[in-house]
Amino acid sequence: MMCSDKNSIQKNIEQINQQIRTAEQQYGRNSNSVQLLAVSKTKPITALEEAITAGQKCFGENYVQEGVEKIQHFSQHYTQSDLEWHFIGPIQSNKTRLIAENFDWVHSVDREKIAQRLNDQRPDGKPLQVLIQVNTSGENSKSGTDREQVFALAQLINDLPNLTLRGLMSIPENVSDHASQLAAFQQLAELKQALQSHYPQIDTLSMGMSGDMPAAIEAGSTMVRIGTAIFGARDYPQAT
Ligand SMILES: *Cc1c(COP(=O)(O)O)cnc(C)c1O
Repeated sequence: MMCSDKNSIQKNIEQINQQIRTAEQQYGRNSNSVQLLAVSKTKPITALEEAITAGQKCFGENYVQEGVEKIQHFSQHYTQSDLEWHFIGPIQSNKTRLIAENFDWVHSVDREKIAQRLNDQRPDGKPLQVLIQVNTSGENSKSGTDREQVFALAQLINDLPNLTLRGLMSIPENVSDHASQLAAFQQLAELKQALQSHYPQIDTLSMGMSGDMPAAIEAGSTMVRIGTAIFGARDYPQAT
C-alpha cells in the first residue's frame, strides 16, 4: 500500500471516538468511560504523528524493539511528553527489561516469571501498570493465563512494589456475530468483578478491537485496542 491520505487517520480517530460515545450511550455506560488505545504496530512514525495531531495520546505496540524505537523517537524529537505507551504483545522473558524500562502499561502479563522480572527490572519511580491477559476461549494456541490461575497471578502482582495491578485483558476468538462476541467478553467482565472484590483498585478491562468493539463496550470494556480501523490494514507481519 502506498502512503495513506494524510487526513484519513485523523478522520478515522474522530469516527472511532464517535462510535465509542454512541456505544456508551446505547449500552448505558457512563460517557467517557471507554478509552481508545491506538494500536500502531508496524505503522511508521508519520502515522503516529497524524494520530497525535488528532488528539490521540495512548498507543499500543506489540513488538518490543519497534515499540522502544518509537518511544525513544517521541521522547527525543517531540516536546509533547504526555504520550502513554502500552505493550500489548506476547512477552518473551529476554525482552522484559526493555518493556520494564520503556513502557507505561503492559496488557499481556500471563505468568509469574514475567511479572517477577518486570518488577525486578522496573526502574525506580512510577510503577508499571499491569493487566493480566486471560485466555477466555480455552484454546491452547492463544496466549493468556487460564481463568483458574488468574487469582494466584493477581496476588503475586499485587505484592510486587514496582507493579500496579489494574485489571484484565483478553483477545477472544475471532467471530463475527455480536452475540458470540458479547458472550466471550462477558466472561472476562465477570472475572474482573470477582477479582475486584479482592483488589478494589482494579479499574480496567482491555477488550474490543476493530472487528468487535460494540460488543466489548456493551460487556463493560474500559479500553478498546483499535489498529486497523484507525491506521488501515497492516501491510506486513513483523518479527520481534
Ligand atoms: C493488533 C492488535 C490489536 C488491534 O487489532 P485491529 O483488529 O487491527 O484493531 C489489538 N490488540 C492486540 C493484542 C493486537 O495484537
